[in-house]
Amino acid sequence: MRRWNGWGDDTIYYPLPENAHRLLVERIGKATPLPDATLHNVLAQVPKSHLPDHPLVTKSAEERLRHARGQSLPDWLALRSGNLGIFPDGIAYPTAREDVRNLLAYGREAGAIVIPYGGGTSVVGHITPEKGKNPVLTIDMERMSRLSNLDKESQIATFGSGAAGPDIEAQLRAQGYTLGHFPQSFEFSTLGGWIATRSSGQQSLRYGRIEQLFAGGQLETSVGTLEIPTFPASSAGPDLREMVLGSEGRLGVLTEVKVRITPLPERESFHVVFFPGWQAAVDAVRAAVQGRIHLSMLRLNNAIDTETNLAFAGHERLLALLEKLLSLRGAGADKCMLMFGVTGTRAQCRTALKQALRVFRRADGVYTGTYVGRMWAKNRFRVPYLKNSLWEEGYAVDTIETATDWQNVDHMMKVIEYALRGALVHEKEMIHVFTHLSHLYPQGSSVYTTYIFRTCETYEETFSRWQRLKTAASEAIVANRGTISHQHGVGVDHAPYLVAEKGELGLAAFKTLCRHFDPDGMMNPGKLVL
Ligand SMILES: Cc1cc2nc3c(=O)[nH]c(=O)nc-3n(C[C@H](O)[C@H](O)[C@H](O)COP(=O)(O)OP(=O)(O)OC[C@H]3O[C@@H](n4cnc5c(N)ncnc54)[C@H](O)[C@@H]3O)c2cc1C
Repeated sequence: MRRWNGWGDDTIYYPLPENAHRLLVERIGKATPLPDATLHNVLAQVPKSHLPDHPLVTKSAEERLRHARGQSLPDWLALRSGNLGIFPDGIAYPTAREDVRNLLAYGREAGAIVIPYGGGTSVVGHITPEKGKNPVLTIDMERMSRLSNLDKESQIATFGSGAAGPDIEAQLRAQGYTLGHFPQSFEFSTLGGWIATRSSGQQSLRYGRIEQLFAGGQLETSVGTLEIPTFPASSAGPDLREMVLGSEGRLGVLTEVKVRITPLPERESFHVVFFPGWQAAVDAVRAAVQGRIHLSMLRLNNAIDTETNLAFAGHERLLALLEKLLSLRGAGADKCMLMFGVTGTRAQCRTALKQALRVFRRADGVYTGTYVGRMWAKNRFRVPYLKNSLWEEGYAVDTIETATDWQNVDHMMKVIEYALRGALVHEKEMIHVFTHLSHLYPQGSSVYTTYIFRTCETYEETFSRWQRLKTAASEAIVANRGTISHQHGVGVDHAPYLVAEKGELGLAAFKTLCRHFDPDGMMNPGKLVL
């Protein structure tokens, strides 16, 4: 069963390796965990529902609690403390488009706020109900997850929007295809959620972001069904898909989604190169991506990220040996680890590997083969489980991500890291901060920074600590020409910064679009645009 107050399936536990714990104690000090509320106590707080009865709506306290929050740090603090404040009044599980239409009419009649719900993995407050007088209806799309059509000739698959990563890949794999969308939240996040948040998967370099994979479908709105036809390309005015991508549940509910699929690759492998320092490594990956080498993934860790990754990987003796070998080859304390993937036919993989290694060796990269890459591939969706074990040791972890042009990438990384490290200096509190580049484009790159900090004596103080960190990093991003989000979306946490990127005129246009499809203002208010 899914954990109600943390990440993932409660049968999976990923313990914190001893050397990771040692690293954190050394860098930011020993921590004391906060006491967690019990499920029993939180359930006792769920108030009476204010929704009228409906055959598709459950008012079970546990269902309402399990849909009350996502996975952002404020969500975690609310769940762990048991101080949620607001819960949805009812949860619906439609199984067909007609059910969704019916639920929207019911929501409107009841004066409810309606929140479309995919996998609940939002990290920016997308599914947290806004405080207010109206009852809240959450529409969970989990039961609409079937592959209903597979057009092999055009390579288009039609799914229910509630299909989660493993469902999608299992149904496609059985027919020899893949969607190739692998966000780290793959285990639980859904097609509808990916589209509504403009998600990016770990192998976007080969398969594209969700924008490239989303071909069309149906959006159920208060004023009718928006049919989005699929074309290989079209110059017939603005593209309807662009209105839906990143709409964060504000326009309606995606029910059916058509996606572009690819035949399963013959081969796939992940390789690791260590560079002696950051700048040479950045230049090398830029050369690879601008040279259009057919790689399926590039992930470059800065020196602290490399050190942290190796410490969190466990395997102490083996890694000590690797470090010794690397140091002899010139990749010492400042080394930066690059993981890259090659995917395709045997010949395509051979060519890509050869071309990439030529570029990386020119920058003094030391190639270490596929061992670390195999470990990564095995654990790629297990890493988030470390958040649970870090929490149990008194450490909170959060991420901040942006994208910017190449000439600004290094500067952006430095200003974000500087802002985070400096945010709590007056408290003499250290933050463990590290960055990687994981979605690379010929024009620029995403910059993804992780920060680990100690929780305080109370939940309120911990929330205020997080607010100072998040504000400092977000302000650094918008002041330095970065997008407020490369892949997590806007939700509540990024909404105040959106105007810096879209301008007043741009935001007003989106507000008008919301009013057009949702004249009663019932669809997920308070998210994306205020
Ligand atoms: C550990 C972890 C790792 C992550 N890694 C990545 C990553 O690698 N890449 C990445 O892009 N993101 C990542 N995320 C963020 C998150 O997984 C994405 O934002 C994801 O797209 C959310 O999908 P979901 O199905 O969980 O949507 P939810 O969280 O349920 O909802 C998100 C938003 O989408 C809307 N929505 C959902 N379904 C529909 C629908 N059918 N119709 C209309 N609107 C809908 C909701 O109303 C809400 O506004 C990660 C999150 C976590 C916790």
